[in-house]
Amino acid sequence: MVRVSQSKSTKVVGVLALQGAFNRHTRVLGELNVATQEVRTPQDLASVDALVMPGGESTTMSQLLESSELFEPIKKMIHEGMPVFGTCAGMILLAKEIIDGRDDQVSFGAIDIDVQRNAYGRQIDSFEAEIEVDGFNTPFQAVFIRAPRIVKAAQSVEVLAEFGVEIVLARQKNVLVASFHPELSPDQRIHELFVREI
Ligand code: GLN
Repeated sequence: MVRVSQSKSTKVVGVLALQGAFNRHTRVLGELNVATQEVRTPQDLASVDALVMPGGESTTMSQLLESSELFEPIKKMIHEGMPVFGTCAGMILLAKEIIDGRDDQVSFGAIDIDVQRNAYGRQIDSFEAEIEVDGFNTPFQAVFIRAPRIVKAAQSVEVLAEFGVEIVLARQKNVLVASFHPELSPDQRIHELFVREI
């Protein structure tokens, strides 16, 4: 007897590949033996079970999300519970409120945080810092590049890591965000955290 399984055995993690630092995310996920799909079109999106939104330039990504006609279907999938992980510019795209954004910049409003772009100032464009992450028994070396700052978070947002008084890793339901670039550290634990949720 031939048994036909209805359920997909392999989950596919999409990596939004319109602009920015998507390559490294694909590589890290590959090293974790996760099937990946670069997402540039609604057709690419249709085959994914989760999505990573990389760092880069959130204003440009916002424009490309609209011109590629990915914005609405991604918004719908997030609303329906698709796990999504936004890093840096990706976090800006997922925020409810953007401060210092462009007037025409759109966001998914998927996590109840207010985010200020380029908030660490010009002098400290980029820096690295050790952060303590909930559930990790050693610190994570985080790389910040023109990082956004979470200036407000709702009670329902779970704080997973802070740098000083700043929230730098947070989760609300199916949405995980980092203000830094975990894909640039050799440490894969934050990607593992995301993959475990899928
Ligand atoms: N400052 C960038 C923005 O507003 C984000 C920087 C990054 O993703 N490294 O999109």
